[in-house]
Amino acid sequence: MNDSNDSEPLWSVQRSVQLYQISGWGDPYFTVNLDGQVVVRPDPTRDTTVNLYDLTQGLKDRGLDLPLLIRFSDIVGHRIRCLNEAFQQAIKEHDYAGTYRGVFPVKVNQQRHLVESIVEAGRPWQYGLEAGSKPELLIALAAMQDVGGLIICNGYKDQHYIETALVAQKFDKTVIVVLERADELDTVLRASEKLGIKPMLGVRAKLTAKGVGRWADSAGDRAKFGLSTSEMVELVDRLAECDMLDSLVLLHFHIGSQISSIIPLKNAIQEAANIYVELAKMGCRMGYLDVGGGLAIDYDGSKTDFHASKNYGLHEYAADIVSHVHAACTKSDVAVPTLVSESGRAVAAHHSVLVFEVVGTSEVRFGVPQEPPPEAHRLLKDMFETYKGISSKNVQESWHDASQAKEEAQNLFKYGYLGLRERAQAERLFWACCEKIQERLRKLKFVPEELWHLEQTLSAIYYCNFSLFQSAPDIWAIDQLFPIIPIHRLTEEPTVTARLADLTCDSDGIIDRFIDVEDDKHVLEVHEWKRGERYYLGMFLNGAYQEILGDLHNLFGDTNAVHLRLTDDDNYEVRHVIKGDSIAEVLRYVEYIPEDMIEAVRRQAERAVSSGRLTNEQMRTMMAHYESALRSYTYLTESE
Ligand SMILES: *Cc1c(COP(=O)(O)O)cnc(C)c1O
Repeated sequence: MNDSNDSEPLWSVQRSVQLYQISGWGDPYFTVNLDGQVVVRPDPTRDTTVNLYDLTQGLKDRGLDLPLLIRFSDIVGHRIRCLNEAFQQAIKEHDYAGTYRGVFPVKVNQQRHLVESIVEAGRPWQYGLEAGSKPELLIALAAMQDVGGLIICNGYKDQHYIETALVAQKFDKTVIVVLERADELDTVLRASEKLGIKPMLGVRAKLTAKGVGRWADSAGDRAKFGLSTSEMVELVDRLAECDMLDSLVLLHFHIGSQISSIIPLKNAIQEAANIYVELAKMGCRMGYLDVGGGLAIDYDGSKTDFHASKNYGLHEYAADIVSHVHAACTKSDVAVPTLVSESGRAVAAHHSVLVFEVVGTSEVRFGVPQEPPPEAHRLLKDMFETYKGISSKNVQESWHDASQAKEEAQNLFKYGYLGLRERAQAERLFWACCEKIQERLRKLKFVPEELWHLEQTLSAIYYCNFSLFQSAPDIWAIDQLFPIIPIHRLTEEPTVTARLADLTCDSDGIIDRFIDVEDDKHVLEVHEWKRGERYYLGMFLNGAYQEILGDLHNLFGDTNAVHLRLTDDDNYEVRHVIKGDSIAEVLRYVEYIPEDMIEAVRRQAERAVSSGRLTNEQMRTMMAHYESALRSYTYLTESE
C-alpha cells in the first residue's frame, strides 16, 4: 500500500537547472554553482562571477533590506556589445556598404545610473539614445555628452520640444525629429523659421505589415502613430514646396514590442525598405533607416514563438535587416542607409534581478487521517475506506467517490443529520483524499483533465515581501511571465508547489503563472519553508519597463536598489546604493505631512494619558513606533 519510497534518483543541481529552465533564459549570465546557489556572470568575456545568494546576504547584513533590486551594469554593456557585433557581422557578411548606429529608447528604463552606463558602454559603437517625450529628450541631451551617437526624437511634440531638439543639433550631435503625425510638420516649420535652423527630420511609417501578440496594433492602419502612404506623399510634396527635401533623412517604423516571431519582422523590414527606396527616389536626402524596437527576449527559454519567448536569435535578426535593405537598395540603385534600431527590452531586461524573501506560507498538509471510531457516521467510515483504497490505478474513481461524499456531508449537515465536528471530519477526509490522489497523479504520464485543477487547488501559498504592482506590474497588467526561481538550496529537491502572494491586500497581487517548457504553469516548485530560515527568490530579466510602470498600490514604494560593477582586478564593487522610499516619502506623494501626522497622533495620545486610559510608558511606545515607522522602509522589516 505504501508506495512512497519508490527509489527516486537523488536530486541534483542539474535537475534544478532543468526544472527551472535556467540555461534557456539565463545563458550566459545566470548559472548555478555546486552549492546550489545562483551565480551571475555579468561580463561573459571575463571569468569573474558574483554569487547572488552571498551578495544578498551581505547587503542585507549591511542594512539593505529586501526586496532588493540588483543591477549589473556589465550585463547591459555586454548586451550592447552583442547587438553591435551582430550588426557588424551581418554587414560584413552581406558586403553592406553602410553602418549600424543603435539607439537606446530611454522609456524602457530611465534610471540615471543605467542610462549613464549605457552611454558609456555604447561609446565604442557611437550608440545613441531615443527620446519619446520632452522629459526624455532632456535626459538624452544631458547624458550624451560626446559627439557621434544619434538622438532620435519620437512621441508627441510641442513647439518647445522641437525647438530644443533643433538647437541641440548645433552641439554637433545628430538630433533627428521624427514626424509621427502629419500635422507635426507645421510645428516644425514654425520652430525652424523662428530659430533659423534647418531641421533634420525623420518620418514614421504606418506599415501594413503587422506585429504579433500584445502590441500588434502598434503597426497597421489603426496604429496610433505613423503616417499612411498618402500622408507620406503629401509630406514629401510639402517639403518640396518649401525646398526642404534635404531635411528628410530618416525613415522609422516600430511594429511593437516583444515580437516573438521573425516573420512579421521580415515583412515589416521588406515593406519599410521599399518605402525608403521610394523616398530617396522622390528626392529626399535620406541616409538612415530606423527599424524601431521589438527585438524580443526569451523569458521562458523555450526558443519558440510563444509570447514569452522568441524563435530567432540576434544574428538572424541583424542578418534579415541587413539583407532585405541591401536587396531593396541594390535593385533600385539607391545608396544603402545607416541602419538604426531602437532595441529596449533586448538591451535592458537582463541587467536587473529582484531578490525577495518568503515571510510565511499557508500550506495545507492533511497527511494521513485517523481512522473513524466504530460508532462514527457511516459516511465518515466510507470516506476513510475511499482514502485507504486510493492507488495510481483508480485515481479518477476515487476522486468521484470523495467528491460525492463531500457533497453528501454538506447535505446531511444542512438537514441536521451531521454535527459541525463531523462535517469538519468529512472535509478533512476529503482533502486528505485529494492530497493522496495528487501524489499518485505526479507519477502518472497521463493526467485526466478533470483532475488538472488539483495541483493548483492543493498548492501552498508562499507570502513574499514585495509588491507585484511596484516591482513587476506587467505580471498584473499584461500577464507577462518572468523567470522566478529560488536563488539557493538548488541542491535540494523542491518538494512544495506554490503560488506566490505579495504584500498588498489586493487579490490580484498573486503570481500564479510561471514559465514552463510548453505554455506556462500555474504553480512553482519551491523548497519547504522553515520559519526562522531565510528563503530567497529571484525574479529575473525584469530590467525593462517594470521600474517606471510600477506604482504605489497600498503605498509600497520603490525598493532598495544597488548597482554592481566588475572591477579591473577581477572583483566587483557596489557602485551605487539607492535607498528605497521611506514611509514618510510615499506619504508625501499623496500630500500628507508626516510632522503634522505625528502631532495629530500625539494630541490623541496626550488626551488618553490625561484621562488615565494610557500610561506614560504606553504613550512612549506608541510615539516611538509611529516616528520610527515613518523613517522606515515601506516593506516588512525584521524587528530587533
Ligand atoms: C517602446 C519603443 C521602443 C522599444 O521597444 P522594445 O520592444 O523594448 O525594443 C522603440 N521604439 C519606439 C518608438 C518605442 O515606442
